[in-house]
Amino acid sequence: MHEMALCEGIIEIIQEESRKHAFARVNVVCLEIGALSHVAPEAMKFCFEAVAARTIAQGARLEIVETPGAAWCMACSKGVEIKQRYEPCPSCGSYQLQVTGGEEMRVRELEVD
Ligand SMILES: [Zn+2]
Repeated sequence: MHEMALCEGIIEIIQEESRKHAFARVNVVCLEIGALSHVAPEAMKFCFEAVAARTIAQGARLEIVETPGAAWCMACSKGVEIKQRYEPCPSCGSYQLQVTGGEEMRVRELEVD
């Protein structure tokens, strides 16, 4: 389950931020997960709770925003939205797509005290 490692990375980011901005508690962590990132939101919630225990983020709520997958279609020369990799272009049916977005996962926002 690579979600565990991802959650550890998130906790590191939060700890780094808490040193920079001197907050004592995190209430909400807002995460952006790309539709093509192979990260399962449910698994993230489960792992986050486990990893956050006894850290500054203990008990924090994890909010997940899923961002759509994006690709550049070489056949129609425009950007299109895709739900998964290796999917044809929704506008012309071509498979000549280059993924341009939706593969990332990042911390968008922290609500802190
Ligand atoms: Zn196309």
